[in-house]
Amino acid sequence: MENKAYRGHVLTLPYPSLGHINPLLQFSKRLVSKGLKATLATTLFIHNTMQPPSSSSLQFDTISDGYDEGGFAQAESIHAYLNRMETIGSKTLADLIIKNKNTANPIDCIIYDPFLPWALEVAKKFGIFGAAFFTQTCAVNFIYHHVHHGLLKLPITSTPISIPGLPVLELEDMPSFISVPGSYPAYFEMVLNQFSNSDKADAVLVNTFYELEPEAVDSMSKVCRLLAIGPTIPSFYLDKRLENDNDYGLNLFASDSSICNNWLNTKLEGSVIYLSFGSMASLSNKQMEELAFALKGSKFHFLWVVKASEEAKIPEKFVEEAGNKGLVVQWCSQLEVLSNKAIGCFLTHCGWNSTLEALSLGVPMVGLPQWTDQTMNAKYVQDVWKVGVRAKVCENGIVEREEIDFCIKEVMEGERRKDFQKNAKKWRDLAIKAISEAGSSNKNIDEFVSKFINS
Ligand code: UDP
Repeated sequence: MENKAYRGHVLTLPYPSLGHINPLLQFSKRLVSKGLKATLATTLFIHNTMQPPSSSSLQFDTISDGYDEGGFAQAESIHAYLNRMETIGSKTLADLIIKNKNTANPIDCIIYDPFLPWALEVAKKFGIFGAAFFTQTCAVNFIYHHVHHGLLKLPITSTPISIPGLPVLELEDMPSFISVPGSYPAYFEMVLNQFSNSDKADAVLVNTFYELEPEAVDSMSKVCRLLAIGPTIPSFYLDKRLENDNDYGLNLFASDSSICNNWLNTKLEGSVIYLSFGSMASLSNKQMEELAFALKGSKFHFLWVVKASEEAKIPEKFVEEAGNKGLVVQWCSQLEVLSNKAIGCFLTHCGWNSTLEALSLGVPMVGLPQWTDQTMNAKYVQDVWKVGVRAKVCENGIVEREEIDFCIKEVMEGERRKDFQKNAKKWRDLAIKAISEAGSSNKNIDEFVSKFINS
């Protein structure tokens, strides 16, 4: 009976950072709910840092990026990290496939992050079904696709920029690798290289849902047969169909949920600003100071996640002086926080997971994008999804305290607050619908599973 029900063994391989691991982890859980066996492979360093749960529907295994002791921080440069990861990662991924080969459950599908296009070459070498899993929006991916194929020439010399299926874009709306030429050449090469072999992938999956960006999905579907399968948020927060799926389950940073929950539970509905800049961004001292002053001067409560590596940038005495008005923590369970009724707005760097989480939980946003795709996400938050505002940056690259204060007021109490809340609720309903039984994303997941099983 067991053998009959068994539908195949999928190995999922994210780029080793939290914003890439979380969505592939969640997608793996969905696949398990469809009868597949799934193993998530991370680098040895990440595996040891995260300590995957022992009781999980998933299995966990490792490859190596060549930096087992310290991960990315151990590398001499971004370029060195990516190169070494390709060499050592390809070899150790092959070893992992071989290790599973003569077991009852050999790996017969690899779902890889296209930041690691070499994984598809490894899959093909072993004759294994290979699916690309894009962790950013279709709109962003479509821009990179255009640049990769020479359809959008760089540097951009005339604006606004028109790309089929996307809103009219100014330079500041573009991903930062394009709007700030030469800022991170190795990463820029990496995002373009996602398309170096994606036409050879057996399937292309994107962590978005159709209703969020229908024109972008339609446009990109003309160049590759993609399936929008998001949002990859724990089921508890959306359709509630997956048992015991109430958090991501892996964390790079330790946190104690009770501290945030207890504090938030003493606050009135919609009275707290939640601030976080995700797992990677590092703000300048000046930007941290402007944020701190804006919060100090504001009448609203705030919950601010300041990672340990950023703590020294908080102005002296800020935390003591804030008293019960504010809570500063090094990390939190963001989904729990966003779903707390006390939260009135999310001041975010607009990382794609954070944005998708806020949309899925119906929380209006103030966008303070820092780099990469965050600028485009902030553009959509303000002008397409209309669930908040994007803060204006000064010539010195800083968002000043007056602007932060203005944006917070706009979202927390301004005339447009009701519209932002109404739209946020609309996106939450659509997110739930997309992933539920008859929804667009769930159908796409089913289509993917049957394509793989029948391959
Ligand atoms: N996150 C969290 N606690 C925090 C801050 C962030 O759990 O205090 C999670 C958040 O829920 C999201 C991920 O970290 O899933 C951040 O991903 P995102 O794409 O937003 O940003 P990145 O870290 O890649 O810049």
